Amino acid sequence: MDKIYLGTNWKMHKTINETELYLKELNKNLNNIDFNKIKLFVIPPYTSLNKARKELVDSNILLGAQNMHWKREGAYTGEISPLMLDEIGVDIVELGHSERRQYYNENNIDINKKAKTALDFNFTPLICVGENYEAKKYGISEEMIRKQLKIIFNNIKREEAKKLLIAYEPVWAIGEKGEPAKPEYAEKIHILIRSYLEEKYDNMTSKNIPLIYGGSVNNENALKFLTRTNIDGLFIGRAAWDVESFLNIIHKINFFKYNS
Ligand code: PEP
Repeated sequence: MDKIYLGTNWKMHKTINETELYLKELNKNLNNIDFNKIKLFVIPPYTSLNKARKELVDSNILLGAQNMHWKREGAYTGEISPLMLDEIGVDIVELGHSERRQYYNENNIDINKKAKTALDFNFTPLICVGENYEAKKYGISEEMIRKQLKIIFNNIKREEAKKLLIAYEPVWAIGEKGEPAKPEYAEKIHILIRSYLEEKYDNMTSKNIPLIYGGSVNNENALKFLTRTNIDGLFIGRAAWDVESFLNIIHKINFFKYNS
């Protein structure tokens, strides 16, 4: 893939003020970035989305939301609807993060419904898949990921699938207690995802859906993932919450892209 996707999910971090400071600093320091080669995105919490939209108005950085309900509106206290996100003007909706599955019982059927709605609203669904520690321990990672894909992609047509981004995020690799996957292992799973997409759609479609890796990515290991042919980008949590740290990763990758 000729483009690298680099994005961050802020989870439940950053107030509106902190969002403004972060994005101003980010925008100020991207002058030499080749946006034809690097696609950046940030995924703040809901309360910061409006401010973030304003800060990113003239920038090449895409804006995402961390979740969304599949219904347009209704009696769903505490939920956020696609209409609300559409009004703000988000580009991406992250769906199925492992923390949503783990703490809020979100399942693959929910994620499938959300993906369909997101496509109807012209958002880019960023679908997260990945096995948990138990599946890895018992050697059933591939089965678990295929099951996730089969349900999440149910009734998603080829033309729709082309608009998606997929993040492979092994649960055991995420967060402070996580261990980053070995790049060769991550690539093996990316190849599995590609072959599922090829089986379901076709070779071209499968090749054109960006597959990004997430799970304890940092400045030291970022490039090791990106030198793998089937890894099209990185989804970064805590190593990107400090803007300087995110900028260091972005500039390192930009330099690599310029010289490769
Ligand atoms: C995540 O939670 O999606 C993630 C990638 O987090 P971290 O980089 O902190 O492991």
